[in-house]
Amino acid sequence: MGDVVVIGAGIAGIQAALDLANHGIFVHLIEREPSIGGHMAQLDKTFPTNDCSMCILSPKMAEVAHHKNIRIYTCAQVEAIEGTVGNFTVMVKKHPRYIDESLCNGCGDCIQVCPVEVYNRFDAGIGVRRAIYKPQPQSVPDIVIKDADHCIECGLCYDICGLDAIKEKEEDTTIRIPAASIVVTTGYTVFDTCKKAQFGHLALPDVITSIELERMINASGPTGGRVMQLSNGATPGSVLFIQCVGSRDMSIDRPYCSCVCCMQAIKNAMLIKEKYPETEVSICYIDIRAYGKGYEEYFERAKSMGIRFLHGMPSDVLTDREGMIVQVEDTENGEVLVLHPDLVVLSVGIGPADGTIKIAERLGIPVEKTGFIKPVHDAVKTVATIRPGIYVAGTTTAPKDIPDTVAQAGSAAMLAFIDAIRT
Ligand code: SF4
Ligand code: SF4
Repeated sequence: MGDVVVIGAGIAGIQAALDLANHGIFVHLIEREPSIGGHMAQLDKTFPTNDCSMCILSPKMAEVAHHKNIRIYTCAQVEAIEGTVGNFTVMVKKHPRYIDESLCNGCGDCIQVCPVEVYNRFDAGIGVRRAIYKPQPQSVPDIVIKDADHCIECGLCYDICGLDAIKEKEEDTTIRIPAASIVVTTGYTVFDTCKKAQFGHLALPDVITSIELERMINASGPTGGRVMQLSNGATPGSVLFIQCVGSRDMSIDRPYCSCVCCMQAIKNAMLIKEKYPETEVSICYIDIRAYGKGYEEYFERAKSMGIRFLHGMPSDVLTDREGMIVQVEDTENGEVLVLHPDLVVLSVGIGPADGTIKIAERLGIPVEKTGFIKPVHDAVKTVATIRPGIYVAGTTTAPKDIPDTVAQAGSAAMLAFIDAIRT
């Protein structure tokens, strides 16, 4: 029986790894970030049930961490692949963490003494982290990483660590992993709002993205769960969501629907309304895509809570002395509205993960014009690739929601399992 390599440890990779490992296959789980978990770890709740995202994900992360049939490689990227189905060799480059993973116990004492604060990518830039840090509150593995680009080598963390776990220097290492088959679950990246500068993100403090809102509304996030105007810390009296920013937009060569942003906006609009009943919440949309099980009912519930749905897309976010101005025509009734929201949330689309083209080249599989990896067939062979023994799942091939991602991960794992037991 052969091993399987799973590339990418978001919810798709975690699910595929668990499905394989629970059927006796040894899995090498490769993740380029310092923790497994992917984007799902950043989310507050999931739609349409409003379950806490981490309440679903963290038990799976813990199961992966302790599973006898799974080895996790973090800060690691696939460099090359040789061979054919049943007999692949995957070359993995492991980047330095500057921490001895066998010694660090995750106590966090080093974080407390580090004097350097930098932008926290996990919190989408709203919060800060130290130069030595845990990648997320429930990191797996539960150890720190030293950010060599920002470390000033003050030495305080070396002094406090009683286990001598922190390294001053460390080099890349290359590992060769034999595998019968490979599952690719490299996921997505969110739209870069600089390509739609007219909406004012990064220029106006109270224009945020849907990911920033996820971190803000999360009780373990940088604001402790408070939705606030970043300009003054006040609770917004009005919040306006703008849909399809970076989706269904030929002007920026993103013709496709990102699938999840309508439901994510509806979910977060409801959470805001529940927390702050006095706050006016509106959503500007082209179409509401509520296509999944229970989604239409969820949409109806949002309407019944007083969330206003405006069928029209503003072209920009402007300001005057009193704040932000958004002009939009509600095409349902032809009315032109001039809105003055306190907080604007851009529902950013999702695209292929950075580096998808490079990894596809290394694996010898094609990508679509959109940059997502191309499966053999979009309707009937959605997890197979043109290369036998290499399978794909989740948002690696196209935007999709969590239930579809998990289902595809199981399907890819099954095909990889068949190759592994034939080996
Ligand atoms: Fe604790 Fe040392 Fe690990 Fe820092 S490096 S978390 S001080 S064991
Ligand atoms: Fe922070 Fe670097 Fe100083 Fe350690 S040596 S405390 S990581 S700045």
